[in-house]
Amino acid sequence: MDFRDSPREADFRSRLRRWLSSNVPRSAVPEEDGERFHFLQEWHRRLYEGGFIGLAWPAEYGGQGQSEVHEAILNEELGAAGAPTAPHIGFLGRAILLFGSEEQKRRYLPGLLSGDEVWCQGFSEPDAGSDLASLRTSATPEDGQWVINGQKVWTSDAQYADFCLLLARSDRDAPRHRGISGLIVPMRAPGIKVVPLVQISGSREFCEMYFDDVRVPGDSVVGAPGDGWRIAMATVAFERGPVDIGFSSRYQREVAALEARFRDGGFADPESARRRLARAYAAVEVLRVHVLRSLSRRGRGDVPGWESSVDKLLMTRVEQDLHHTVMDVHAPEPLLGAAPEVLHNYFFSRSQSITGGTSEIQKNIVARRGLGLPAD
Ligand SMILES: Cc1cc2nc3c(=O)[nH]c(=O)nc-3n(C[C@H](O)[C@H](O)[C@H](O)COP(=O)(O)OP(=O)(O)OC[C@H]3O[C@@H](n4cnc5c(N)ncnc54)[C@H](O)[C@@H]3O)c2cc1C
Repeated sequence: MDFRDSPREADFRSRLRRWLSSNVPRSAVPEEDGERFHFLQEWHRRLYEGGFIGLAWPAEYGGQGQSEVHEAILNEELGAAGAPTAPHIGFLGRAILLFGSEEQKRRYLPGLLSGDEVWCQGFSEPDAGSDLASLRTSATPEDGQWVINGQKVWTSDAQYADFCLLLARSDRDAPRHRGISGLIVPMRAPGIKVVPLVQISGSREFCEMYFDDVRVPGDSVVGAPGDGWRIAMATVAFERGPVDIGFSSRYQREVAALEARFRDGGFADPESARRRLARAYAAVEVLRVHVLRSLSRRGRGDVPGWESSVDKLLMTRVEQDLHHTVMDVHAPEPLLGAAPEVLHNYFFSRSQSITGGTSEIQKNIVARRGLGLPAD
């Protein structure tokens, strides 16, 4: 395939480069969670105002109506400019775009794209992660409303969110995959308690959420009652897919930082560092072209198939290997507290094989749906 930009893509790339040359934040992303979140929200808004958010989304809901390859170009250029990454928002909005009513799309998508309204994903529960269909949080119809009770866990950014896309069991008598609905829940509704959890990296990215007789309007369901499983599967497919794994820019930046340090003679064992740097460079480049190939194969708005599990497995491997390398070549500094960002990134990379569905589950998906192997 041809990896070069089409004339339209090349125009977009140069416009983006010009914009980045005067808009990349001068200060580094803050360490502290709250400050980090608000800094990245500000960056989100700035990108939106520049016309670089929702590139492949329909214009009528606040998007730019471009192709998905534009999203990959955005990620590449952000990395090249040393800018913070683009916000990881698209996959939740996709559920509303695909399954929501016209009213829901017009009400919620523009705020999600502009960054004025923050969303979280209320899927996982203490006993329902990989086996999501065993979720127990309930949504019971009562007087034209839904009454929600239960608990969610690992909900990223719940402490900042305005809305949650919540999966709840709305029909206890239906087969377990069919009795689930997807609901839009305002996070300020009475009866919601959010408790942040501390990760090994020290950050408090995700939370527990408790729902105690939380009432939401009857029209809060996305799609029809019982559509929740389809919505969940489409959402996680986008979450694993090539646009939302456009993290290659971040990896490129880290490889460039390693290279700069290598050139400055900053490593005790330069021969080993050189080999590992070369391997990291090649792995990130493979990921970059793989993402481009996946994107160019997919039509605009198509729900990714089992192939998105391959994308996620590859991304996980690249991220974990890269941060392992960065840790090793900087040793012993990170362990002595001298390079907190290196240690933070290393710990965070461990979560990539869990978030959005574990690597074992991705392998099961590829084995069954991609290779046609039997379930046992
Ligand atoms: C950084 C991060 C952010 C997250 N953000 C969110 C969020 O915003 N919203 C949300 O809803 N969730 C979120 N999650 C939760 C995530 O989706 C779950 O952790 C994940 O789906 C795994 O579920 P679990 O933790 O319950 O593990 P389990 O399902 O209990 O799995 C435990 C282990 O058993 C293995 N296993 C389970 N079943 C099988 C099987 N059939 N075959 C082989 N191995 C199996 C798993 O691979 C894993 O190693 C986040 C997780 C992380 C790490």
